[in-house]
Amino acid sequence: MITGKTVVAGVVGRPVAHSLSPILHNAWLKAAGIDGVYVAFAPDETGLGRLAEGFRGGAIRGLNVTLPFKEEALKVADRVSEIAERAAAANVLLFEPNGRILADNTDGVGLLRAFAVQAPQWDAGAGPVAVLGAGGAARGAVAALLMAGAPQVWVVNRTLARAEAIADALGPRVRPLPLAHAAGAFREATAVINATSAGLADDEGLDLPLETTAPATVVMDMVYKPLETPFLKQARELGRPTVDGLAMLIGQAEPSFDAFYGEYPPADVDVRALALEALK
Ligand code: NAP
Repeated sequence: MITGKTVVAGVVGRPVAHSLSPILHNAWLKAAGIDGVYVAFAPDETGLGRLAEGFRGGAIRGLNVTLPFKEEALKVADRVSEIAERAAAANVLLFEPNGRILADNTDGVGLLRAFAVQAPQWDAGAGPVAVLGAGGAARGAVAALLMAGAPQVWVVNRTLARAEAIADALGPRVRPLPLAHAAGAFREATAVINATSAGLADDEGLDLPLETTAPATVVMDMVYKPLETPFLKQARELGRPTVDGLAMLIGQAEPSFDAFYGEYPPADVDVRALALEALK
């Protein structure tokens, strides 16, 4: 039931109708018995600032931020967390009662939680990691991996200059590499993470040889539609452990829920099954 005390949070993106976040958060709210609701907003391309100003002071508790607003979300905030600063993007805006807007990023936590759930044997500090891509998702992943203790992160990208920009921003443990040299990085990597948008929907995905990876190398794909991308299929057929993008999506939603509603979501709701149903 919606009451006068209902805590409102939501997701802002464009388009946003496909977002799985309302399904996850509202299922958790119901199971936890919290008087809260989670809705979706799709302002026009220039509308994030106006939306955020309108919510200043706590008209709603917070927003998850998705494409194309993740970089702009930093600009509307008065305070930016260290991880959001390093990722150069935010996926959470919190509207504090004192009028300030705080930007945070839980995508990196989501990535690490996905590994903890689906590849618990993997240790971030055990060796180099290869991240494919150099967009916002890749930079967030690199920042989180460094904070988790990865000794070296290869950033492998089609456009080398974008990988070099991440290395310049995040320091000497980051090594830029062109896509054509991916096999060399794969040989050493304890994990290979696809943070490109290749593999989405009808796209054929990345044509990269995973044969050079070691048998224990974990292969992860941030794309979750389809859930098993061509890249993950290749990994599975080679017998490599895999982590999927839906686990990351759920992993970033859990700390977001805590930030909005003041507690971690109940563990006994199978939100993965609900999300898989919605993805059909
Ligand atoms: P982005 O900023 O647009 O970056 C896209 C990256 O993909 C660039 O590095 C681009 O290379 C590369 N790329 C695109 N098509 C390619 C192809 N055919 N071959 C090789 N490289 C290609 O996107 P983003 O925001 O970082 O997001 C990347 C992906 O992560 C998206 O699919 C997004 O949905 C997903 N994601 C998932 C989660 C989750 O929770 N599961 C969270 C965040 C993001 P160039 O630089 O050479 O153009």
